[in-house]
Amino acid sequence: MELTGIGVGSQAVVGDVFLLETSDAVFEHRKTTHSPDEEASILSTAIATTAATIREESSGGDTTTQEILDALLIILEDPELQEMARPHLDEGMDAPTGLFIALDEFAALMGDDEDFQSRVSDLRGIAARISAWTRGIAAGPEIPREGTWIIVAEDLTPLETSQFGESVVGVITELGGPTSHTAIICRALGIPAVVSVKGAMELSQGASVLVDPEGNRVVPGGDLGAATTAISFIPQADSPLITVRANIGSVADAEKASSTSARGVGLFRTEVLYLSANTMPSVDDQAALYTEVLRSAPAGKIIIRTIDAGSDKPVPFFSLEDEENPALGMRGFRLATDYPEFQKSQLQAIQKAIAATGRDVGVMAPMVSTVEEVREFKALCSEAGISQVGIMIETPAIIPVMPDLGGVLDFVSIGTNDLSQYLFAADRMHPKLGSLNNPWQPGLLRSVSAIATEAGKLGIPVGVCGESAANPLISIVFAGLGIDSVSVAPSAVEEVSSALAAVTIDQAQAAADAAIAASTPGEAEAGVRALFA
Ligand code: PEP
Ligand code: MG
Repeated sequence: MELTGIGVGSQAVVGDVFLLETSDAVFEHRKTTHSPDEEASILSTAIATTAATIREESSGGDTTTQEILDALLIILEDPELQEMARPHLDEGMDAPTGLFIALDEFAALMGDDEDFQSRVSDLRGIAARISAWTRGIAAGPEIPREGTWIIVAEDLTPLETSQFGESVVGVITELGGPTSHTAIICRALGIPAVVSVKGAMELSQGASVLVDPEGNRVVPGGDLGAATTAISFIPQADSPLITVRANIGSVADAEKASSTSARGVGLFRTEVLYLSANTMPSVDDQAALYTEVLRSAPAGKIIIRTIDAGSDKPVPFFSLEDEENPALGMRGFRLATDYPEFQKSQLQAIQKAIAATGRDVGVMAPMVSTVEEVREFKALCSEAGISQVGIMIETPAIIPVMPDLGGVLDFVSIGTNDLSQYLFAADRMHPKLGSLNNPWQPGLLRSVSAIATEAGKLGIPVGVCGESAANPLISIVFAGLGIDSVSVAPSAVEEVSSALAAVTIDQAQAAADAAIAASTPGEAEAGVRALFA
């Protein structure tokens, strides 16, 4: 009996189920015979030791994982968290129990914000490791280094994905969506996955299973012959139908992108450089870093996004207040109101980096929803001497006012991750709302179509830089809708480029027509797939 979900990647794989569940003994609340002072010292040593081990283990891995883990470790190392644990140590609890209760209290303080709750669950994953170390027990089953395993879990923490070795060939999660950490990391590591699979945890330990991301399904006992055939696109042209660029967030990403056929960078997420920065960087420090990224980036245009802090991307040097709904709160360009000096300093630093490298650079602002914001951003860019100015299209409100942006903008770039979240009022990190954030949703595809039409009327290029573009079939649909460029993770550049070099504009338009005519994500995907199968 097959189980359905949302596929990540295109290569089907068969392996043995490895259920990843943390042992209950790790989470038990326990009393101690030590004094509270002794337990406090055990706690700080355990946090320091575990953090150092995790940093060391992840140091050779991919940068996305390292950045996510580092941001979590900084929260755990914050002395305030240890202070929250102290009253429980005074009541006779052991160090791990104090830490778990402190994390529960921390989570309760933050209300039901889904992004925050998902971060706390990642923190609990690390706290489990601290507990295992302190209590001298195993945190959970160790993934064997030998064999071919399909990791099956409710959802995966960045700590767990960081421990994947070569024996992990596939992933199935019960929760999570196409833009969850699990999906992003699996895509970056090139591991096929199916997420949001109801009933996944009922799969039997050790049983053989087919992970069929193209078919959005998991088949217990299935073999590769039963997998949905991945459409193999044979490039017919020398270059893709539309430009394919890379998404980057660091110098290492820029170097990685340079080893692909990406024609420049469609999204440089500058906030990634500052996810662990406690103090605001100076203009010169920023300029030095941006210059290094520009020097390492692949040839072609580079689009730098100004800082998109807040919500799911905490940047410690902004002291953001707790909010009921951070995704609807102070984030992205809205922070320029509270931190005007930082916004100005960033634009000055970008201009310095442009001058130092001579690269062809466009600068865009995230999370813009009004014409006034666009004008304000344009004025700030002009003041800094930046000439190519754009915005991300991530909020539904900016779409109907696009006709009023003539003469102000040089380009726009659609962030389908956030656009989906706001169109469907469905948190992009919500483990149960993956299907609303499915990029084949007609509500999203028809919005992309409307944006492409408006950009065409304004006579400015329009790109897509959300995760959706990493799906080769969707990138073809985008080309058919009139999108001029897509930007994807470096690991997806070749696959998307090949698909876009294999089709004609007529085929892409037929794919776009099929996708737009569909009423459900399933119909849209099936309709487009049928054209190329
Ligand atoms: C998006 O929202 O689609 C996007 C590309 O920005 P981010 O994922 O960084 O929010
Ligand atoms: Mg976004």
